[in-house]
Amino acid sequence: MTEATMGTGAGREGARSIVATGLRNAHALEKQAIQLIERQLPRLDDYPEVQARMRQHLQETRAQEERLDRMLDRLGNDRSVVKDMALEFMGNMAAMAHMPADDEILKNSFANLAFESYEIAAYTSLLAMAEEAGMGEFRPMLEATLQEEHAMADWIETGLPAVTKRFLSLAGRA
Ligand code: MG
Ligand code: FE
Repeated sequence: MTEATMGTGAGREGARSIVATGLRNAHALEKQAIQLIERQLPRLDDYPEVQARMRQHLQETRAQEERLDRMLDRLGNDRSVVKDMALEFMGNMAAMAHMPADDEILKNSFANLAFESYEIAAYTSLLAMAEEAGMGEFRPMLEATLQEEHAMADWIETGLPAVTKRFLSLAGRA
């Protein structure tokens, strides 16, 4: 490490490349989020409020992906790299979406809350990276997305007792 970079750890250039990697990872994450939500939506007819909120978050997620596209474009990234990483990522997070089961709504709710928590961590970290890299212009977009992930996580957690009781009442009727 040279004296010039010692005070700032990785240095501005290093931080910029770490931001680029973080943005690509987030892009792959949002691609996965879209698939997870699209897979669940048609199976949520018994839970119309959950279905409506998930449909709203699908729109938010598509806008989040576009924000990441804009940030990556500003960094001048190769779009094909984004595509590759998205495919690679599928195997990991897809395991969180559960196969049809009697308590599918519960397992999916747990997995969805975990997914939102992962997103909260990723964007919280990205905000710090962007700040260190002197890329303050990304802050509003990252904060907008982070706020949406927090709102979705809070909604899932707050609604979980009601969803569980609905599940029990439907199970009792079967
Ligand atoms: Mg998201
Ligand atoms: Fe999300």
